[in-house]
Amino acid sequence: MNGKKAVKCDSCGVAMHFAQKVPFRIMGQDGLAVWVFGGVAQLKERTLSFDIYLCPKCGRIEMFADDVSRRFLLKMTPGTFFKRCVKCGREIPMASEECPHCEATQKRS
Ligand SMILES: [Zn+2]
Ligand SMILES: [Zn+2]
Repeated sequence: MNGKKAVKCDSCGVAMHFAQKVPFRIMGQDGLAVWVFGGVAQLKERTLSFDIYLCPKCGRIEMFADDVSRRFLLKMTPGTFFKRCVKCGREIPMASEECPHCEATQKRS
């Protein structure tokens, strides 16, 4: 295992090429998880890296988390990307301003 996988394009079915590893930063800010391409990690930030695959035919890009990133993402989901609705208590996306279930307006904390 060298970490590269055989990936086929969903649209054209041709083998996608491994393009590059891209670092991503995750910053917690006002209760929002902010994803930033590249850069140097600062305090309280996590740097994850993703493998980018490119279809030579249609240009479609697929992104895969590497082992470390995958474990990290599994561990923090849903806690980091979801919050609970202030009214009905269901899990809703962190960035939601309105609950998709009961339409309650969410307070920004
Ligand atoms: Zn394609
Ligand atoms: Zn709700």
